Amino acid sequence: MSAIAEELPEQPDFLWHNPSPKKSYDVVIIGGGGHGLATAYYLAKNHGITNIAILERGWLAGGNMARNTTIIRSNYLWDESAAIYEYSMKLWEGLQEELDYDFLFSQRGVMNLAHTLQEVRDSQRRVFANQLNGIDASWIEPDEIKELCPPLNTSDDIRYPIMGATWQPRGGIAKHDHVAWAFARACDRMGVDIIQGCEVTGIVKDAGRVTGVETTQGRINAGSVGMAAAGRSSLLAEMAGFRLPIQSHPLQALVSELHEPVHPTVVMSNHVHVYVSQAHKGELVMGAGVDSYNGYGNRGSFHIIEEQMAAAVELFPIFARAHVLRTWGGIVDVTLDASPIVSRTPFDNLYVNCGWGTGGFKGLPAAGYTFAHTIATGEAHPLNAPYSLDRFTTGALIDEHGAAAVAH
Ligand SMILES: Cc1cc2nc3c(=O)[nH]c(=O)nc-3n(C[C@H](O)[C@H](O)[C@H](O)COP(=O)(O)OP(=O)(O)OC[C@H]3O[C@@H](n4cnc5c(N)ncnc54)[C@H](O)[C@@H]3O)c2cc1C
Repeated sequence: MSAIAEELPEQPDFLWHNPSPKKSYDVVIIGGGGHGLATAYYLAKNHGITNIAILERGWLAGGNMARNTTIIRSNYLWDESAAIYEYSMKLWEGLQEELDYDFLFSQRGVMNLAHTLQEVRDSQRRVFANQLNGIDASWIEPDEIKELCPPLNTSDDIRYPIMGATWQPRGGIAKHDHVAWAFARACDRMGVDIIQGCEVTGIVKDAGRVTGVETTQGRINAGSVGMAAAGRSSLLAEMAGFRLPIQSHPLQALVSELHEPVHPTVVMSNHVHVYVSQAHKGELVMGAGVDSYNGYGNRGSFHIIEEQMAAAVELFPIFARAHVLRTWGGIVDVTLDASPIVSRTPFDNLYVNCGWGTGGFKGLPAAGYTFAHTIATGEAHPLNAPYSLDRFTTGALIDEHGAAAVAH
């Protein structure tokens, strides 16, 4: 055994440490996904708070972070959404350099197809709203669609002919696990403890304040606690003693075996209900909407996969003989207005970032940036102020079901 150990190379220096938890931290972040990592990064970078632990019940980015299909775009309808998602896009555009890590950020454009007159009207409305907010959105006709994405079937003798599309050229994809590693390395360099295999099982309170967390590795005291647990957020809120307006649903995706590069962009269709892109290695990446029931198992029903493949073949007959290599599911945290929650909670020093549902990968830089601001100052940043928990009692909802429809 020791002879083998001697032959093994040392751990490469790009990995992060794997420390045991200290007794106490200034800030404890629950959840080692993209949002937890980005929050810790911006707390350290923008606010000088480095005595931070990220507690992850499984392994780093083993939740939705490494299960998502990595679509990045900012073409949401309402001003509040345009502001936070576009800010996120701008952060994405500088992140590889800032984190000194190549995570294959590819601005290959995102297309949302319209197949009915009503969809044309709704999509054009969104394009105009985006343009007023300075987002690079435009409306494109079928001939331009064919030019941008040759394998799409744009003929008009099919069940749902393509009548046009919204187009955001700055949208695209990135490699999700590399993004997690990039943030983890940067956090580690700044002294953040990333603690894996450490499940939070209780929230410790004293006289109305949160003082720490109970975990599978013992009690850890905390000056402030930030929840970034995506699909498991309601369970944590329940431990703390308040309720979140979240429903947890399975969301599935799949990849084909590898193919030559044939599909140059990202195509989404709410109507036939699928989205398709091609990953850097060559897999076709496909997904659709959530499974309709609630649950915490990281898998969904077979008929959802069957339907999304039928829809993909309808749009791309050329892919009819591609084989499915792998399917998987994650648990997404869906709010009733399809917009996130980045907010204070009923407890002064307990904060929550959740509700990103099917589209939180694209939002993670801005979520981390604004959530860090809220934890550090106790106040909302102007970008996340509209995303407070109290909008569900005041009624100031930000309904993004249209822009979020086929997920992502
Ligand atoms: C199939 C699929 C496709 C998707 N596609 C896209 C897409 O194309 N574009 C897009 O923008 N978004 C997409 N999403 C959504 C996106 O992945 C999520 O919104 C986002 O990843 C959520 O934030 P996160 O990365 O922090 O979540 P997660 O990675 O899930 O992180 C939360 C972490 O908290 C941990 N945790 C939970 N409870 C506890 C506890 N008690 N103690 C300690 N740790 C705990 C979990 O183990 C988990 O690792 C997709 C999601 C899925 C499932």
